[in-house]
Amino acid sequence: MQCKVLCQSCGMPLEMTEDLGKNMDSSRNDEYCVYCYQNGGFICTHLLFIQ
Ligand SMILES: [Zn+2]
Repeated sequence: MQCKVLCQSCGMPLEMTEDLGKNMDSSRNDEYCVYCYQNGGFICTHLLFIQ
Protein backbone atom coordinates (compact mmCIF):
# COMPACT_ATOMS: atom_id res chain seq x y z
CA MET A 1 0.00 0.00 0.00
CA GLN A 2 1.29 3.38 -0.98
CA CYS A 3 0.90 6.43 1.20
CA LYS A 4 2.39 8.98 -1.14
CA VAL A 5 0.65 12.31 -0.94
CA LEU A 6 -0.32 13.90 -4.21
CA CYS A 7 -1.34 17.46 -4.91
CA GLN A 8 -5.13 17.46 -5.05
CA SER A 9 -5.00 19.90 -7.92
CA CYS A 10 -2.27 18.80 -10.34
CA GLY A 11 -1.34 15.37 -8.99
CA MET A 12 2.29 16.19 -8.33
CA PRO A 13 3.87 14.03 -5.60
CA LEU A 14 4.41 16.01 -2.42
CA GLU A 15 7.56 14.37 -1.13
CA MET A 16 9.34 17.29 0.46
CA THR A 17 8.19 20.10 2.68
CA GLU A 18 9.35 22.53 0.02
CA ASP A 19 6.83 21.01 -2.39
CA LEU A 20 3.89 21.89 -0.20
CA GLY A 21 1.81 24.99 -0.81
CA LYS A 22 1.60 27.69 1.81
CA ASN A 23 -1.40 28.90 3.75
CA MET A 24 -1.97 32.56 4.53
CA ASP A 25 -0.33 32.12 7.94
CA SER A 26 2.78 30.63 6.26
CA SER A 27 2.01 27.13 7.48
CA ARG A 28 2.26 24.35 4.93
CA ASN A 29 -0.78 23.07 3.11
CA ASP A 30 -0.41 19.33 2.64
CA GLU A 31 -3.12 19.00 0.02
CA TYR A 32 -1.66 21.20 -2.69
CA CYS A 33 1.79 21.80 -4.10
CA VAL A 34 3.69 25.06 -4.06
CA TYR A 35 3.05 25.53 -7.77
CA CYS A 36 -0.72 25.48 -7.31
CA TYR A 37 -1.16 27.07 -3.91
CA GLN A 38 0.54 30.03 -2.28
CA ASN A 39 -0.48 32.41 0.50
CA GLY A 40 -3.77 30.64 1.03
CA GLY A 41 -4.88 30.77 -2.60
CA PHE A 42 -4.46 29.06 -5.92
CA ILE A 43 -1.88 30.53 -8.26
CA CYS A 44 -2.98 29.33 -11.68
CA THR A 45 -6.29 30.61 -12.93
CA HIS A 46 -6.59 27.61 -15.25
CA LEU A 47 -7.08 25.45 -12.18
CA LEU A 48 -10.25 27.23 -11.14
CA PHE A 49 -12.44 24.89 -13.17
CA ILE A 50 -11.81 22.21 -10.57
CA GLN A 51 -13.91 23.96 -7.99
ZN1 LIG B 1 -0.22 21.14 -7.69
